[in-house]
Amino acid sequence: MRPQDILIPEPAGLLCKPGGFHIDPVRPVDRAVITHGHSDHARPGHGAVLATRETLDMMRLRYGENFAGSTQEISYGESLKLGDVTISCHPAGHVLGSAQIAVTCKGTCIVASGDYKDAHDPTCTPFEVVPCDVFITEATFGLPVFRHGDAADEVRKLLASVALFPERAHLVGAYSLGKAQRVIKLIREAGYDAPIYLHGAMEKITSYYQQRGIDLGELRPVKGVKKADLAGTITLAPPSATSDLWTRRFPDPVTAFASGWMRVRARARQRGIELPLIISDHADWDGLCATIGATGAGEIWVTHGQEDALVHWCQSKGLIARPLALVGYGDEEEEESLPAGESADA
Ligand SMILES: [Zn+2]
Repeated sequence: MRPQDILIPEPAGLLCKPGGFHIDPVRPVDRAVITHGHSDHARPGHGAVLATRETLDMMRLRYGENFAGSTQEISYGESLKLGDVTISCHPAGHVLGSAQIAVTCKGTCIVASGDYKDAHDPTCTPFEVVPCDVFITEATFGLPVFRHGDAADEVRKLLASVALFPERAHLVGAYSLGKAQRVIKLIREAGYDAPIYLHGAMEKITSYYQQRGIDLGELRPVKGVKKADLAGTITLAPPSATSDLWTRRFPDPVTAFASGWMRVRARARQRGIELPLIISDHADWDGLCATIGATGAGEIWVTHGQEDALVHWCQSKGLIARPLALVGYGDEEEEESLPAGESADA
């Protein structure tokens, strides 16, 4: 069976005709399989949604109880039959509950990995390599310039700055689903045990991580705390909040931003970021290349991001590779940091 007879891109998203479902559809469909809770992948209004428990819970938190006509849970390692295909679910290492979906039909296996990373993240199950014939990879950081390094070193930079400027507050911009909780956990792993403050927009999802057994230490809402009492403290906030009037409640804040884009100095400068922290929930160039090789796939479909360089790299390794023309997927590391209405590709 040709892979394109199993999965094919169409305007609503990636369609599995023989299985009767879409993966991460961007428009309402009858049956959706969702890889993870970020809003460009997990949208409300579908008839039936199949996803991990955590992804379903995050959709509930974000969109309310009636976000879909019906829901069904799938666990890591579980397979089930949908129409003429078998699907199975495997950890993607991107955020809590994130999954790769393997679709098998008549002996051909395609893995749709959604967003993924192969780096250390104590807040979610590590990425698992799933051998397959066709691997669908993201390419958010699909250029050789993007090498993220060790996130623990970035967190040490943050803590060194906190120690150096006890009279200033540290404001860390971090996407509120996944990145914020990972940064908090890395701060704890580095030995910092003072309370960490949270912007209101992060409270719900962070307490969900705690409910799921991820120990983040003592967290406090920053709302209502006196300005002087925030000297020497760390506050996590959505990236957009770190550049507006909201920051006036902090004493002489040092603004940090945790994102893979902080590898690009000009981006940090543009945003007025004093302390760029290169921490990403997406695979970097080396991670993308290593993962593609590890799957053993002979054919690679590249989507949402910088497809061209990765397609070229795959072809240079003798693999069949092509960009997938899927639209509607942004990059959460950018999205939340931009004013409403501005394109994520800007
Ligand atoms: Zn994502």
